[in-house]
Amino acid sequence: MRDIYMDNSATTPLSKAAKDKISEAVEVFGNPSSLHSAGQAAQKLVDEARARLLSALGVRQRQGSFVFTSCGTEATSFALFGCAYAKTRRDATRILTTDSEHPSVARALDRLSLDGFEIVKIPTKNGVLDKEALKKALDKKIFLATFMLVNNETGAIYDVAGAFAEIKRAYPNAITHCDAVQGFMKLPFTPTALHADLITVSGHKLHAPKGVGGLYISAEMLKAKKIVPFLVGGGQESGMRSGTENVIGISAFGAAVNDIMGRRAEISKKISKLREYAEEKLSKIDVRINRPSGEYLPSIINITLPSIKSETMLHHLSADGIYVSSGSACSSHSAHPSESLIAFGLTPKEADCSLRISLSEYNEKEDIDALVASLSVGLERLVRIR
Ligand code: PLP
Repeated sequence: MRDIYMDNSATTPLSKAAKDKISEAVEVFGNPSSLHSAGQAAQKLVDEARARLLSALGVRQRQGSFVFTSCGTEATSFALFGCAYAKTRRDATRILTTDSEHPSVARALDRLSLDGFEIVKIPTKNGVLDKEALKKALDKKIFLATFMLVNNETGAIYDVAGAFAEIKRAYPNAITHCDAVQGFMKLPFTPTALHADLITVSGHKLHAPKGVGGLYISAEMLKAKKIVPFLVGGGQESGMRSGTENVIGISAFGAAVNDIMGRRAEISKKISKLREYAEEKLSKIDVRINRPSGEYLPSIINITLPSIKSETMLHHLSADGIYVSSGSACSSHSAHPSESLIAFGLTPKEADCSLRISLSEYNEKEDIDALVASLSVGLERLVRIR
């Protein structure tokens, strides 16, 4: 029996392009900081990957930089703490965010609140950013806004461009950061279109290996020294992120991005068709699809089971070789109901009975058939909770 992997929002299998690049890069063992040829060969791989990332982000020359990090979480900590350390405006104490951010943002903000920042969370009921609440939160005290582009549990696409444009119009000095980990290479956007000064991305969500991510930083942020490094030391990555670069991971990240670049429309079409097929099949069994009322990414399908704990169903599916998720990979370590699903409007019990199915271009219709067949058996056999 072939394993059926439908947990692509947690992580993805490596693409052939990434694997091929890894085979090439393992032979290049020099330290990119070394001045000899072995070092420069490694630096060349890093530079090539950086150029690919900047091109995929639609960054024009001298408009901004891309700093490699160890993952999306580190990129976000760098963005949020790096700006907080650099802050000079004493009156800027308010940070705007949503009530459904990934823990890499939410927990970083918990820390900043201990440092005296006031965190204002904009509601995202039914997967839609509340524009009225945003208007009310606008104030000259705004220091920074951090909004995710795509919610990792529901697939909801938030109107980050609209929100950041409004914030910048009212307060041009406010810094805007977008966690685009789930949207990068799936949705078309550029820093200019998003009105974003900082953008977090991660490699392992798009068929690159785990252990590599990065932060886009606008030239203006660097010039005005509105961000300082989070990791300090040897001054790698133009002084913005010390630590010897993960050359193999970085070059595979570049290759994975490059592989998707020319095929974005084709991949998106395939996944949209799979989504349609999955919705049709799921509508015939006793589950509810938590479909955002605004725009959403077709690859993420969140369902609520009728009084069956998601973990119980997850293990039943896993025994059949079908892999989905009972919330984000991070929140599966926690006993609390998912903040994202509660923000969406689910009760704690419903959140506890919800599964996330996340597709990639490597899934086929047969995978959906197998999932729905196994879900149907589970719905009949598994113990219901009160
Ligand atoms: N942001 C979002 C929306 C995510 O879904 C994730 C991972 O699930 C992250 C950030 C963290 O990325 P990483 O696993 O690279 O640290």
